Amino acid sequence: MATSPTSLTSPYPHLLAPLDLGFTTLKNRVLMGSMHTGLEDGRKHFPAMAAYFAERARGGVGLMVTGGFAPNIAGWTKPFAGMLASAGAARRHQQVTSAVHAEGGKIALQILHTGRYGYHPLCVAPSRIQSPISPFTPRELSAAGIERQIRAFVRCAMLARDAGYDGVEIMGSEGYLINQFLVTHTNQRTDDWGGSYARRMRLAIEIVRRTREAVGPDFILIYRLSIIDLIPGGSSWDEVVLLAKAVQAAGATLINSGIGWHESRVPTIATSVPRGAFTWVTKKLRDELRAAGLTIPVITGNRVNMPEVAEQVLSSGCADMISMARPFLADPEFVNKAAQGRSNEINTCIACNQACLDHAFKARLASCLVNPRAGHELSLIIKLAPARKRMAVIGAGPAGLAAATTLAERGHSVDLFDSASMIGGQFNLAKRVPGKEEFEETLRYFGQRLARTGVRLHLNTRVEAADLLVKAFDEVILATGVKPRNPRIPGQDLPGVLSYIDVLLGKHSVGQRVALIGAGGIGFDVAEFLVTQPGHSTALDLPAWLAEWGVADPAAVRGGVVRPVCTPPERHVTLLQRKPGKLGKNLGKTTGWIHRAALKTKNVEMLSGVNYERIVAHGSGLGLFITFGDQHKDATVLEVNNIVLCAGQEPLRELLEPLRAAGVKTHLIGGADEASELDAKRAIDQGTRLAAAL
Ligand code: NAP
Ligand code: SF4
Repeated sequence: MATSPTSLTSPYPHLLAPLDLGFTTLKNRVLMGSMHTGLEDGRKHFPAMAAYFAERARGGVGLMVTGGFAPNIAGWTKPFAGMLASAGAARRHQQVTSAVHAEGGKIALQILHTGRYGYHPLCVAPSRIQSPISPFTPRELSAAGIERQIRAFVRCAMLARDAGYDGVEIMGSEGYLINQFLVTHTNQRTDDWGGSYARRMRLAIEIVRRTREAVGPDFILIYRLSIIDLIPGGSSWDEVVLLAKAVQAAGATLINSGIGWHESRVPTIATSVPRGAFTWVTKKLRDELRAAGLTIPVITGNRVNMPEVAEQVLSSGCADMISMARPFLADPEFVNKAAQGRSNEINTCIACNQACLDHAFKARLASCLVNPRAGHELSLIIKLAPARKRMAVIGAGPAGLAAATTLAERGHSVDLFDSASMIGGQFNLAKRVPGKEEFEETLRYFGQRLARTGVRLHLNTRVEAADLLVKAFDEVILATGVKPRNPRIPGQDLPGVLSYIDVLLGKHSVGQRVALIGAGGIGFDVAEFLVTQPGHSTALDLPAWLAEWGVADPAAVRGGVVRPVCTPPERHVTLLQRKPGKLGKNLGKTTGWIHRAALKTKNVEMLSGVNYERIVAHGSGLGLFITFGDQHKDATVLEVNNIVLCAGQEPLRELLEPLRAAGVKTHLIGGADEASELDAKRAIDQGTRLAAAL
């Protein structure tokens, strides 16, 4: 199998080298990994799914894998989830495969049997052990039941081939059914499918072997193998290596690395995870396979989001191919841009999960915060406007940037104004938060896009309504953002009470004891900022991050998890909110727990159900008087050096009335429209959709 890099004139010689699989050749080393978008879960979504994958095939990716399809009802992710179990269903999939092939692409179908992770009462598992992330207790499979699951996998693969797929990926990781058979944590059987490892791995091997027999030799068979389970009692390293060798012998074409189970308490793809954080584990496996004379290509992934990272991973021998899933939601043209030396134009996935995984876990169609067209290729179309208009966009935050660039791409004449000296608005605060460094990439992307689309950018320019009237724009878009909400706490004007903006911009020094008023997204961000030593973000320091989350070498510790090691910060931070209950409840579905866990390990105190009574000068610092409950009795005093106000936002829209009064067609987007729900996902989506329609 070819492993040599392409010519040295290629910007990414290893990444863009073809991969010869014997019976077929992939045009490069880029796999668009499986990502559940929700398009799998309804017949009506097939045209949208076809357009979604066709756009990415056009973008040059070597091989794509669909979101997971269950091989039978027991394997559903949720009731009536996507399933491929009949000839009729296979016919529907032909829309997808023919659209991809028409663009010169290749696509494999992922066969996903969720086992005890199934969010439905018909779920099954090796043993009757409920998972911590599902309310349903699985039924224990009988031996005949196991045989039925194997046959379902094989049937699904044959139907995939009939539907025109180039291959299948058998999902054996992330804690799903096959993975559940592999470890004693979930497999306590005493028959031929439990006990020794040889028996626990039988299901995986039988599925691969019988699938290969059924589909023939010229069909790609990817096996997704959990190389580090990140759960106590997970697979040992010897077991991982044994399984990889057995999977190759059974007929797999490629081994894809799976990292962690869904129930693991270690983040694996969030933005605070360092780039390429787990590629060293794939390297370990690849080295073992090569030492044994086995040549099966091995795929790695997880937090690889730019071509230079991918190139470095491949050139250092960590893997033969790179899997990226979310980066293709963010930018379908990722590979073409890399190949054409335009990687600075890539719309980089910032690993926020806000529009993709958070949607998928809430049964909403997935999209992308930085690319709202993802998953909506048929409905959100950016085409030339019927007439060129003169447009002004006020505010160069995410909403204004999205609107201005989209308008210009449609042929409008666009002037973009901002009073700040740089584009980005609130993103300039976010990028300063440890673990959110990726936000800088979005600003780089929009900077490039502004230049390319010819938007006239006016920084350091505060515009008044009169200026806009003089220039006689056809329409004005106000993306003027937000101002911090005034919580009106008696004593808040004392020195030492700071706004989150001043803190994040480093305009004030902050003492050792701090209280934060408000525990929304910004309160959590400011807490993280204050308990991290400047320049010590673990997102940029892999060994420190691994220690902080208790990730160990899986060759030394089963499952690769140990007790986290965290040096307590010098600063003591208390995070407060008025609502009762858990703090950070409205943070992202898939990332909120990470923020909470990170702050807890840094001893951040979290208080809810608080009434803010008053702030007073206290010694050389401040005293924050708080009470709990309706009676406002028995005040407690928090003695602190500083209090930071993170109490939400209010819209900034002073230009609206004068412009509308003067008869100018004026639109509001982003925080200027709705501060209570302000976030970048809504801002970019709203800016793009408005601009697509004007
Ligand atoms: P937010 O999420 O609305 O939180 C505001 C906080 O202030 C809440 O904890 C609220 O809790 C408190 N509050 C509201 N009115 C108050 C008052 N009058 N006095 C005292 N406290 C008050 O707003 P944000 O934290 O400013 O975030 C803005 C937006 O950016 C949000 O939509 C957020 O999702 C987004 N963002 C997201 C992230 C992320 O990690 N996903 C990070 C940063 C920002 P109580 O009313 O219970 O006290
Ligand atoms: Fe990446 Fe965020 Fe887009 Fe998901 S929503 S693909 S994590 S940028």
